[in-house]
Amino acid sequence: MGEVILEDVSKRYQDVTAVEDMNLHIEDGEFVTLVGPSGCGKSTTLETIAGLTKPTEGTITIAEREVTDLPPKDRGIAMVFQNIALFPHMDVYDNISFGLRLRDYETEEVDRRVERAAEIVQLEGMLDRMPDEMSGGQRQRVAIARAIVREPEVFLMDEPLANLDAKLRVHMRTELQRLHKELDATIVYVTHDQAEAMTMSSRIAVINKGELQQFAPPLTCYNEPANLFVAGFIGSPSMNFAEGNVDETGLATPDYHVKFEPGNLPDVAPGDTLTLGVRPEDVHLREDADSIANPTEPIDARTDVLEPMGDEIFVYLLTGERERAGGGGMETEAEDAHQLLMSVDPDSDVDIDEDVQVVLDRDRVHLFDTATGDAIAHTLEFPVSGPEATGTEAEGDD
Ligand code: ADP
Repeated sequence: MGEVILEDVSKRYQDVTAVEDMNLHIEDGEFVTLVGPSGCGKSTTLETIAGLTKPTEGTITIAEREVTDLPPKDRGIAMVFQNIALFPHMDVYDNISFGLRLRDYETEEVDRRVERAAEIVQLEGMLDRMPDEMSGGQRQRVAIARAIVREPEVFLMDEPLANLDAKLRVHMRTELQRLHKELDATIVYVTHDQAEAMTMSSRIAVINKGELQQFAPPLTCYNEPANLFVAGFIGSPSMNFAEGNVDETGLATPDYHVKFEPGNLPDVAPGDTLTLGVRPEDVHLREDADSIANPTEPIDARTDVLEPMGDEIFVYLLTGERERAGGGGMETEAEDAHQLLMSVDPDSDVDIDEDVQVVLDRDRVHLFDTATGDAIAHTLEFPVSGPEATGTEAEGDD
């Protein structure tokens, strides 16, 4: 039914490639979010599905029909945009039903659809309100109701919450999830906000510079990012990265060494440059190391800045050489100190400017090929069958 399939879709404007070779197979009833930084091609991708932009190459299929050359109105889609364009002189009922009335639907049918849509977005009893008598969130619900009454196979939403204040945005996230459950429809949603993508979607398509980086459930993107871009983009605060050189016994970053057997990794040999990635919650104080099964060797660090968040404290650590300019009592850290962000329990008694030792959770350390950015492993506890492990065992080899 409401499947959406993009095959080899590219969109070029003179010298700009907005979307490059996009392949997405969105299942019927999925809530898929296109996420990536501003200008990465999210809206253009959505517009090609909507029919507002014609792809330079490739085909688009919606509900088993190829629609690449069809106008928006014949595609079985309804769109909700960031800018809520309601008619100011019409009440809620007229705003919601405007499209239907334009298409000469029977009054009873219009009533039925408006009532159902108003119920879904919880605007019953407000149908005679004027837009200027409503809050931003209520107006956005009117816009969503206007899409619902069209009873489309697929909803396309382009940053519909971007203009709402932070609290309302979080509230509307749960509303949209409820809406998705109730409508049982396919939703393709665009946002630059990775938290929004993580919380609402069945799968997220992470896009950078017009190219699809990973298309997977949110937690897969979080725990097994396909490359450095996804690893850095998904998760807040961001993953820590440290570049290092492979030696006979593991990886040497400028400030610490982690052990593993390079021979157990495909296409990795001593001398290679890899990037280690570790999330703040996978860095632990040494005294808490018994909470994890496989800690690394202790790493010397100094606490620099604390950010208490209530449910956790972010600790900015400095690792590596730290020359202190003593004398006047002021201490300055040398340029070659590196930052490592750690998240600790709120009741931890960590203080600033303290010398500490930390360990990394070896089961959750990521390795990336620095040159290509591709993920090589999502643990240091080899051998394991990671997602990248396919095709790694050359036949007949040892
Ligand atoms: P996003 O939605 O991720 O912010 P867009 O899809 O809007 O990104 O844009 C992707 C790229 O294509 C950007 O570099 C943008 O400047 C360019 N672009 C989008 N629309 C046009 C257009 N009509 N003409 C020229 N360039 C465009």
